Amino acid sequence: MNKIFAANWKMYLNEQESLDFVSKILSNKRLFLSNKVMIFPSHTAICSVKSALQNLSSIQVGMQDCDMEMSGAVTGSNSINSTYVDSCIVGHSERRTIFKEDEKIIKQKLENSLKTVESTILCIGETLEEKKQNETFKILDKQLSILPSALNGKKLIIAYEPVWAIGTGLVASNDYIKEVLSYINNALKSLYSDEILSNINLFYGGSVDENSVESLSTIPLLDGFLIGRASADFKKFENILKKMR
Ligand code: PEP
Repeated sequence: MNKIFAANWKMYLNEQESLDFVSKILSNKRLFLSNKVMIFPSHTAICSVKSALQNLSSIQVGMQDCDMEMSGAVTGSNSINSTYVDSCIVGHSERRTIFKEDEKIIKQKLENSLKTVESTILCIGETLEEKKQNETFKILDKQLSILPSALNGKKLIIAYEPVWAIGTGLVASNDYIKEVLSYINNALKSLYSDEILSNINLFYGGSVDENSVESLSTIPLLDGFLIGRASADFKKFENILKKMR
């Protein structure tokens, strides 16, 4: 199966820079059509990116986060209903650490996203300290404990992103990712029927770039990647996709 590449642009690109990126995509349509790509721009750039990509509907556009509420008095925040998107990320480690989001908050966001958009990415992963304390599986159990009993036909992507690998240049080893993904897979198997499992994908995220992507792609159970820094630089993202041809 072709891998899926989810580009989390975080706060790296403003609206104009996002549009410049999209025009480079449009000049390289063939490469972007031969891969499954999802793009998560800053919230303020979502509408323009979506409209610039209207002739390339195979690229999904999503929100990097959504509010716990569907609407109401929440100044500065964005509901999953705020604009039409294909996907939404919830539980990113930057939301967990910077915005102090706990499982209760993430569970509500996950529910909002699952009932509204086609696919939801739930990020999970342990910190370096937790890894050193051999607590990885305990942490993953806690982060997975918010999963709903049914997906109602929607797609769920579990992105395993060890916090110590995000933005650090440290990529987890293939063996380590393999072990963790099989743990997650077994946990999912104990929760869901085969029918539901067919709507769940497993991603890895954490310093993926053009040098690591080829080897990482050989990991069994891995359906795709959530990529931060290297996805916001057109040349680097293009090189990642080229490695997959
Ligand atoms: C991320 O933020 O989801 C991520 C994986 O970032 P980076 O690729 O920069 O490590």
